[in-house]
Amino acid sequence: MRLLVIEDEEKVSRFLVRGLASASFSVDTAFDGESGLALVSAYSYDLIILDLMLPGLSGNEVLRRIRGFNRNVPILILTARDSIGDKVANFEAGADDYLTKPFAFAELLVRVKALLRRGAVNRTSVLTIADLELDRLSQQVKRGGKTIELTSKEYSLLEYLMANAGRVLSRTMILDHVWDQSFDGATNIVDVYVRHLRNKVDDAHERKLIRTIRGVGYAIGDEEPL
Ligand code: CA
Repeated sequence: MRLLVIEDEEKVSRFLVRGLASASFSVDTAFDGESGLALVSAYSYDLIILDLMLPGLSGNEVLRRIRGFNRNVPILILTARDSIGDKVANFEAGADDYLTKPFAFAELLVRVKALLRRGAVNRTSVLTIADLELDRLSQQVKRGGKTIELTSKEYSLLEYLMANAGRVLSRTMILDHVWDQSFDGATNIVDVYVRHLRNKVDDAHERKLIRTIRGVGYAIGDEEPL
């Protein structure tokens, strides 16, 4: 994980770099807004820690410019000011979190990790194939924007298929992943559930996504499975 600290006070910057490095992050530093912006446009950072009180370009301006070309990188604001008005303005300008100086390093680390985790979840939480969407956080499934109601077993089956989109999955693989070990019925339970799932996911649509691979198992995808 590569982080950028934009902070003009050397003491604070050193303190952050030392702590973050010992938590196994690689950290770049910038001591003013212009050089911070240059680094942000040159490298891909996993998170940016930005001080608001900077010489030259203000932290607010830096924040606004970063969001002008990078909407996703998590940004944690540091500031000595803690008025509600500033907080609201910064969240509107695209900050993800806010820490008022002085702060304990432990608290900063907790917030950094929370932001990074949130980013990781966001990246992988929605599985999409054509117009079919499965959101792993809300456990909602939609096709063409319309919600599809699934039982929990149907949901697990669809999630397993979509997480392995384009791959052929045998009935045994599906059983092992979707049914727990106490299940000792026949593998044709898989066929029964795939039928239910097709009914809800594919039947109303011309474009079929769930495929039967004769003699092997099933696959989901837009194209021929590998
Ligand atoms: Ca400062």
